[in-house]
Amino acid sequence: MQHKATIFWFRRDLRLQDNAALYYALKENKNVVPVFIFDPTILNKLEDKCDRRVDFIYQVLEQLNTDLHQLGSSLVVLYDSPLNAFKKLAEIYTIDAVYANHDYEPAAIERDTYIREFFRAKNIAFKTYKDQCIFEKSEVVKEDGLPYTIFTPYSKKWKSKLSSFYLKAYPTQNYFSNFSKTIEASSFPSLQQMGFQKTDSVFVPPQVDIAVIKQYKEMRDIPSVAGTTKLSVHLRFGTVSIRHLAAIALQHNEAWLNELIWRDFYMMILFHFPHVQNGAFKPAYNRILWRNDENEFDKWCAGKTGYPIVDAGMRELNETGFMHNRVRMITASFLTKHLLINWQWGEAYFAKKLLDFELASNNGGWQWAASSGCDAAPYFRIFNPYEQTKRFDPDLKYIRKWIPELEDFSYPKPIVDHKFARDRVLAVYKDALKP
Ligand code: FAD
Repeated sequence: MQHKATIFWFRRDLRLQDNAALYYALKENKNVVPVFIFDPTILNKLEDKCDRRVDFIYQVLEQLNTDLHQLGSSLVVLYDSPLNAFKKLAEIYTIDAVYANHDYEPAAIERDTYIREFFRAKNIAFKTYKDQCIFEKSEVVKEDGLPYTIFTPYSKKWKSKLSSFYLKAYPTQNYFSNFSKTIEASSFPSLQQMGFQKTDSVFVPPQVDIAVIKQYKEMRDIPSVAGTTKLSVHLRFGTVSIRHLAAIALQHNEAWLNELIWRDFYMMILFHFPHVQNGAFKPAYNRILWRNDENEFDKWCAGKTGYPIVDAGMRELNETGFMHNRVRMITASFLTKHLLINWQWGEAYFAKKLLDFELASNNGGWQWAASSGCDAAPYFRIFNPYEQTKRFDPDLKYIRKWIPELEDFSYPKPIVDHKFARDRVLAVYKDALKP
């Protein structure tokens, strides 16, 4: 006879504590089976089989499984399309409901729509919750009900709406006894079975450094110091709760809270304006005649443009999977404005390399730099890499860390003259944007 079970479906919320959907699953049911599905349609798109993100997720799942073992349960990990995975689960269990947290990316929305159909046909309830952000979808909108497209008024409304209700942790631990009691020897598919390899990424549980948060405003733009929290990867995969972080931000530093609001803002933009995934937020910017020189693109990717601050950033990205925010802005501006290469090429490269890659924030950051975004830098604002270096890395500490051969002959000459590139991009943008 099949066992009756409720499924909790882990997605971008890889934690047992303060997890909205997990809380409701455990509170409302007795036999909750935690499940994670490695979807080959997502994995197959990753070209590099030594992908740090896959390895990171894998390590987090192993940790979750260890924690679940201590609670007398275990994690079920499947390598299949979600539809097939649930078909298989439905052969093992009589599933009454599946619980999951909302995901706002267009592909995820599409997946959840068709999987909901399958559940409906099988009479399985699909219960979903907000967990990834503080305010989602149309929770923060203008007086007329339309979504904001400018950050400052959005953030004001966001702050005015905030109350302790939105920051309260979901006490999942009160109901841990409702996890299914099935300790199985690990039945995880291995990384190799899924076509991937172990990388140098090591999962370290999130550490919230209050001292960094307190000094955030003063230190956030200096790439040579640990002036930002590096929590982005944890927010990306949900190994930390946004409610927990927002409560800390509220207590210690509004400047840092604003960054968390940018994250909500870009998720909201992607949800309401999914066309940004495939082109400019402002359609006129799709008319820009990019040069798209492949050789120059390769040099930018490799950190060999001859602009040290740009090259240092790209090398940091290539070597670690992380890049400091100030340098993300500089490298993105350089690619789009100095080299006149379509921002979507840069967006795709970052998507391939960033450990914290997140569609909404990456797209938002790139469209900001290319000036095509909703609340972007004006098109005539062109970062001068030398001035940026003087302001944010005056002693060249960051640059020297990533470019040891800086003073050698082997370090390339600048790929393009700054003044020439500036005049060129101004003319091209002006031409594209003329009414
Ligand atoms: P902190 O400075 O400590 O900030 C705390 C958190 O706030 C971050 O972890 C992040 O979740 C959020 N945050 C901070 N800045 C931003 C921002 N500008 N937009 C949205 N959220 C923000 N962030 C990603 O998480 N994933 C991406 O793929 C990504 N791509 C980017 C691409 C470009 C071109 C640019 C300019 C920015 C991008 N960002 C992205 C935003 C930002 O650079 C990173 O969130 C930040 O560098 C992560 O470091 P941290 O955790 O130390 O951040």
